[in-house]
Amino acid sequence: MSRRVRLVRKVAFAAGHRYWLSERSAEENRRLFGQWASPYNHGHNFVLEVVTEGPVDPLTGMVVNIKDIDTVLRREVVGAYDLKSLNDEVPDFADEVPCLENMLHAIRDRLAGQLDGVDLASLTLYETPDLWAKWEEGKLTLTRSYEFAASHRLHAPGLSDAANLEVFGKCNNPKGHGHNYVVEVEVTGEPDPVTGMIVDLAALDRVVEAEVLSRYDHKCLNDDVAELVGQNPTSEVVALAIFDRLRDKIPGRLVAVRLHETARSAFEVREP
Ligand SMILES: [Zn+2]
Ligand SMILES: [Zn+2]
Repeated sequence: MSRRVRLVRKVAFAAGHRYWLSERSAEENRRLFGQWASPYNHGHNFVLEVVTEGPVDPLTGMVVNIKDIDTVLRREVVGAYDLKSLNDEVPDFADEVPCLENMLHAIRDRLAGQLDGVDLASLTLYETPDLWAKWEEGKLTLTRSYEFAASHRLHAPGLSDAANLEVFGKCNNPKGHGHNYVVEVEVTGEPDPVTGMIVDLAALDRVVEAEVLSRYDHKCLNDDVAELVGQNPTSEVVALAIFDRLRDKIPGRLVAVRLHETARSAFEVREP
């Protein structure tokens, strides 16, 4: 049996949408959509990442001809959504709010049965670089990305000064150093019966602001952050601390926390 390989293809489309149900009162719309409630459109440069999987054809050496994937994506996604008002011009959203979650369901339905010889492994739809939804194995998650700037010194209390210098090198500098940390919070939840959204994004932002950003941003992780005092604030330890702080407070269920210390390194804690 030939081995299976995953293939990732990205497409982009620009579209308008609004969070507003005309049959409901303004008050009800504000309750449903919070700060994003508006009877007027706004728009995004959406990016869709399509992951397909299949066996490698021994004759061509390919899983699937990327031209065939592109033909399907051009027809079913770009052709259907690009430069349109999703609420007004796309039948997929005649009865549904065009939020990321419903858009992913619609795109999955559009691609079903269209990709010959390969399976659809996952779909990720980016609304902005700091907000995206992912569908994989029937599960939908939403990820929000945040930034904080903080200093730290890597120094393990259980090791000698010489051993700390040996293990952590320049990161053991007694005066510390700092990073622009990027923290991605991946959550899931039950879809709201009216909006289709799996998490209250405004509530998520509030919790992350209160529990992490306001307490970590422009702080020294070793000295200023209570849960890290006395610990060696490696990104592993910081990611675990953030996961534990958020787990019981966020709306929905916490799936993962990913902490990027630099553009080249990321650390992920997933739900057990
Ligand atoms: Zn939007
Ligand atoms: Zn560092």
